[in-house]
Amino acid sequence: DLDRRNDELAAWDRDCLLHPTTHTAQHARGDTPGRIVTGGEGVFVTDRDGNRFLDAFAALYCVNAGYGRTEIADAIAEQAHKLAYFHAFAGHGNEPAIRLAKMVMDRAPDHMARVYFGLSGSDANETNVKLAWHYNILRGKPEKRKIISRWRAYHGSGLVSGSMTGLKVYHDRFNLPLDGFLHTHTPHYLRRPEREMDEAAYLDFLIAELEALIAREGPETIAAFVGEPVLGTGGIIPPPEGYWARVQALLAEHDILLIADEVVTGFGRTGQMFGSDLYGLRPDFMTIAKGLTSAYAPLSGSILSQRVFDVLMTGADDFGPLAHGWTYSAHPIGAAAGIATLDLVDRLGLVENAGETGAYLLERLRERAEGHRNVAEVRGVGLLAAVELMKDPSAGTWFEPMTVGPKVVAEMARLGVMTRAMPEGNIVGFAPPLCITRDEVDQVVDAFGQAIESVL
Ligand code: PLP
Repeated sequence: DLDRRNDELAAWDRDCLLHPTTHTAQHARGDTPGRIVTGGEGVFVTDRDGNRFLDAFAALYCVNAGYGRTEIADAIAEQAHKLAYFHAFAGHGNEPAIRLAKMVMDRAPDHMARVYFGLSGSDANETNVKLAWHYNILRGKPEKRKIISRWRAYHGSGLVSGSMTGLKVYHDRFNLPLDGFLHTHTPHYLRRPEREMDEAAYLDFLIAELEALIAREGPETIAAFVGEPVLGTGGIIPPPEGYWARVQALLAEHDILLIADEVVTGFGRTGQMFGSDLYGLRPDFMTIAKGLTSAYAPLSGSILSQRVFDVLMTGADDFGPLAHGWTYSAHPIGAAAGIATLDLVDRLGLVENAGETGAYLLERLRERAEGHRNVAEVRGVGLLAAVELMKDPSAGTWFEPMTVGPKVVAEMARLGVMTRAMPEGNIVGFAPPLCITRDEVDQVVDAFGQAIESVL
């Protein structure tokens, strides 16, 4: 009976559901490595066929508190019974959204002033762009509108957030980026333009390229620079030493706002509450999602600085309402999930665990992988790590993108560990729930070690 029901479900999945970020034809043929997941506990998930996997990527680096947390589930149920929804337009509100706003602002850097709640990281990035435009319009600089991001960035897949994204696969089929969305170099020493360049010269090169882009476009046309404190989907790439200080100085010189996209790095993943805390960023906007609710319900946020908020206030009486809102902005169920999640993050010490167990993960990956003939780099910070594979690292030759990386990931799944091959390369990513233990890290690293031996 279970087999029959599973066959039926798989058929409906192929015939009815168009999947996000999935090879459409392969899925229609029933040919993707996708699994129908039905349960989870801690760092483990179970699929319909009864297979159990250690999820070393916290789904999409979002189930940070781990699976099966009754505290979050109960908070959601309680809120649904009490008040499933009321809107936040025209100054209306609901209790969980207000309480969560207070919790977020208590954790955000001191110079931040307000949080606007949305549904996804993508819409929060769009909110940040619109607020940056609004800010410049109020300052009498309506032409200051362009947005600079980095190649390999991931900021979402809407029209604006997808334009901010710097991965070709999200652009090419849709004729993106939209006008006014510019990209500068990925800050990754492994990808330096000349092999002889040392790290200091490479940093100078990155800053000179950004400066040249700003000069070419005209600083009076540029509103904001957006970056993930640690580049995520584009390869899990921590910034070169000193990068953020130099970028921030350049932006300040040209009156360009900084948007820190903390969708992945927010709420503990790097071992600090925010990536901005770790790298000394003073952003004008912070984008948050994922870890805010551990993905138990959809909720995102745009946190804005006092400096931006002050400008929004100056013209506010003449300007009328902030005409930007989703029906589900500040949704009480998402907010209830957020409160319970942030409570758990504190109670379980998840930020500290990300720092400590993250250091252990990196050390174990280095022990296991460094020195392997195809391992170009083992990198990471907190519970965010990656191993980049190359055909011949010493000669600087690359494998075709997305060839061996996905094979290693498939082999790891066969061994009971789920993880993710990052796009545009052969990069195996690790971003487990922040509650992972050392024993569980050992299981992940053992599976990875066996997988590279059998695939390469
Ligand atoms: N920003 C970053 C850094 C992300 O990693 C993601 C998603 O992975 C997003 C934005 C988009 O978030 P969402 O998928 O919730 O729209």
